[in-house]
Amino acid sequence: MNSEELFLRSKKVVPGGVHSPVRSFASVGGTPVFFSEASGAYLKSVEGKEYIDYCLSFGPLLFGHRHPEIQEVVEDTVRKAWSFGACEPYSLELAEFITNRIPWVEKIRFVNSGTEAVMSALRVARAATGRSKILKFDGCYHGHLDQLLVKAGSGLAGLSSSDSKGIGPEIIQNTLVLPLDDEIALEELFLKQGNEIACLAIEPIPANYGLLPQRTEFLKKCRELTTKYGVLLLFDEVISGFRVSFQGMAGLTGITPDLVCYGKIIGGGFPVGAYAGKKDLMDLVAPSGPVYQAGTLSANPIGMRAGLKTLTKAWNENPYPDLESKTKQLTSGIVKLLADSGDEGWEAVTFGSLYWLKGKTKESVRTIADIPTDHKTKFSIFFHKLLDQGVYLAPSGYEVGFLSTAHTNEIIETTLSKTKQALQKKI
Ligand SMILES: *Cc1c(COP(=O)(O)O)cnc(C)c1O
Repeated sequence: MNSEELFLRSKKVVPGGVHSPVRSFASVGGTPVFFSEASGAYLKSVEGKEYIDYCLSFGPLLFGHRHPEIQEVVEDTVRKAWSFGACEPYSLELAEFITNRIPWVEKIRFVNSGTEAVMSALRVARAATGRSKILKFDGCYHGHLDQLLVKAGSGLAGLSSSDSKGIGPEIIQNTLVLPLDDEIALEELFLKQGNEIACLAIEPIPANYGLLPQRTEFLKKCRELTTKYGVLLLFDEVISGFRVSFQGMAGLTGITPDLVCYGKIIGGGFPVGAYAGKKDLMDLVAPSGPVYQAGTLSANPIGMRAGLKTLTKAWNENPYPDLESKTKQLTSGIVKLLADSGDEGWEAVTFGSLYWLKGKTKESVRTIADIPTDHKTKFSIFFHKLLDQGVYLAPSGYEVGFLSTAHTNEIIETTLSKTKQALQKKI
């Protein structure tokens, strides 16, 4: 069966034919490709066509698909066990590996997704402070938990409105939303409500609505005000943790969060999330404290060992400088090819091995309001041209792209020659 047929079948039994919305190609149009295999930097579709993958499962695969060393650990684990629901040494090894290398992670609890990690961290923050309000920023994504699936409301600064049906006003009444990059709005809000806020949650490099690198001064202001008002600072490093550096954005900026969430890379491609922080905060979690949180499959040995292997490689091999230069090589090459083809209107935002192709703007884009309005249409055309040539980008102009160590210089050069061919073709 080809992708077309599989998608038709899938739509009959699965909402929209997919188990996570962006996979459906709703943003770029057309039928999603169904993949049956993956290796290194490559995906293989059910039709047998090969694609160079720059979506990489949206971030977890720092070393590409099925890196042989990680695969070996996974296979070894499967022969031993795949779930205990009891104590085992594997999660301990991962917990020790992380706490020994990230000073602000004194204790850590493993869960099964980034969403679950953020949801649990907020619960800890509310328990620790005895306050109810949560502050987030427009354009930051923290998973699909009710409380944070909100955007800025119209009218008064700080008010929020739900970003999904099924989340009533009573659920989000304690969620405050501000624009990114605005210290004045932040100060004003803290002046009025700082003493009611349990937690300020932020993606220290927002990477779920395009890539919106923030000024360090803005992040510092978040730290300064949260400290002043007794608010906990939560860094959601689900995408940036172990990706922009081993210690994530907190390590790069030198700004220490009170609570931090991980996901994606931490499980090496298996479903793992984690929330972590200072001892006194994490000791509030059951069974040592009164904040309940549990999970039948939490700390499953396959995810724990794949995660440990991945993080061990990242720590030992420090792939970050090389990934960053390859990301620049790829994106500057693409932007140049677009310009050569007569389309001067593009530029690339990159941060480590994260990148975002966008329309040229006079100033750096740091808030969602600054994103060019024709972005979606422009990206969708480009996406399909590359798809046709066997290059798979994340299927939305608002998703960032990722590189892995499996993307060799040669593969990047191949990508650029495919891009050149794609831009010569009329589709
Ligand atoms: C992906 C992501 C999440 C959600 O993680 P899931 O595992 O998809 O639930 C939360 N926060 C950030 C910053 C993310 O990038």
